[in-house]
Amino acid sequence: MPKNPKIRVRFAPSPTGLFHVGSARTTLFNYLFAKKNQGSFILRIEDTDKERSKKEFEKDIMDGLEWLGLQWDELYYQSKRTKIYEKYLGQLLDSGKAYKRNIIWFKNPNKKVVFNDLIRGGIETDSSVLGDFSLAKDLKTPLYNFAAVIDDHEMKITHVIRGEDHISNTPKQILIYEALGWQPPQFAHLPLILGPDKSKLSKRHGAVSLTEYQEQGYLSEAMVNFMALLGWNPGDDKEIFSLEKLIKEFSLEKIQKGGAIFNIEKLDWFNKHYIRQKSTDELTTLCVPYLVESGLIKPVFSTKQYPPAYGGYVLEQKYLIAKTKEEISGEKLKKIISLERERIKSLSEVGDLTEFFFKEPKYKASLLKWKDMTKKEIVESLDLSLSILCDVKDGNFKIEKLKEILMKTAEKFGDRGKLLWPLRVALSGRDKSPGPFEIAEILGKEKTLKRIKKAISTTS
Ligand code: GLU
Repeated sequence: MPKNPKIRVRFAPSPTGLFHVGSARTTLFNYLFAKKNQGSFILRIEDTDKERSKKEFEKDIMDGLEWLGLQWDELYYQSKRTKIYEKYLGQLLDSGKAYKRNIIWFKNPNKKVVFNDLIRGGIETDSSVLGDFSLAKDLKTPLYNFAAVIDDHEMKITHVIRGEDHISNTPKQILIYEALGWQPPQFAHLPLILGPDKSKLSKRHGAVSLTEYQEQGYLSEAMVNFMALLGWNPGDDKEIFSLEKLIKEFSLEKIQKGGAIFNIEKLDWFNKHYIRQKSTDELTTLCVPYLVESGLIKPVFSTKQYPPAYGGYVLEQKYLIAKTKEEISGEKLKKIISLERERIKSLSEVGDLTEFFFKEPKYKASLLKWKDMTKKEIVESLDLSLSILCDVKDGNFKIEKLKEILMKTAEKFGDRGKLLWPLRVALSGRDKSPGPFEIAEILGKEKTLKRIKKAISTTS
């Protein structure tokens, strides 16, 4: 679709800290507004503060944008635009609208400044309360308000969409536009993001940087959907929005004035939703780094030689169960992940949830007890499972087969739990887990029998 040259917005982060969720939400809204109107989304790195600006933070911001899928159309660095600022500082100094005294000051004309905020309506300020304000430390070191105005003008920005915390800068910026004889862009100030206690979202409320959410295992789809609803809503009760759908439905008119509450349970809810939407292949790929991180599996690389027609030397990657030499196949990993899919709230939990597939579980013997079973009954039940499973051939150690034979016996108990509960706990060590047939198939015959024997010996 051709770009609409009339609409140009920018996200203008200062790379002085990790990418904050508040900034990420601002970026998202700019991006959505640009795409909705076939306009351009500009990334401007505001790195004029040489001491505090760091490449690592710039990288964090760019990685975050990439992760969220918010591709910019143009990229600028303020640090490379010193000459442009110098020119306009000279102009303001020459015309007497700015003056030097250690630093460069703007001479406040002390007048009423009015602007129409697209979200908040008319905002009026008596600029005399602001006093003269600084524009630059020197000709080569512009400060935020000044550099932002120059760039917004030079980059033909039509809409400045930013956090409400910048409202107090807007009258100053408008005065600078006027002093240079320029038309200011339109302004839209987004509501603050608040913690559940209604105070401004901060570290006290938990993670604030996007990277932390990514590391904790939130999917980017969940993050985008969740952030979109921090201050915007479609006007009905629809909640699930992909990026494309957001582009279609987004409008500045539907942004609320009041603060938006950051509700982590809602984010968890979205995350669960998007985890369920993933194909098993995709979800497994996303989970594997977390399994490695949790020390459950270990990647090993080897080169294998193939005839040249098949690629010659090819780097092969496999996974071993940690602390063993036993390989775990991609197919098995997929089975494990799909069994736990419904339980995963965030990818970082996947290690905890699946641990028992990779190593012998530790649990209290009392967990083996179903309802009012006695120790003797538990041992008898486990003995029975053991002898049934002993007779199953390796090749038959498959869910359907195991289910068929164990269920037949379980039904005879009247209460199936008497057979299935102790067996499931013996295999998983948990009160909640996938069923015993599913676990047994993944563990294979040898480990299954070993775990049952262990449960019998801890009980008797
Ligand atoms: N560099 C400013 C900030 O990160 C930009 C504010 C604006 O969008 O004008 O807060």
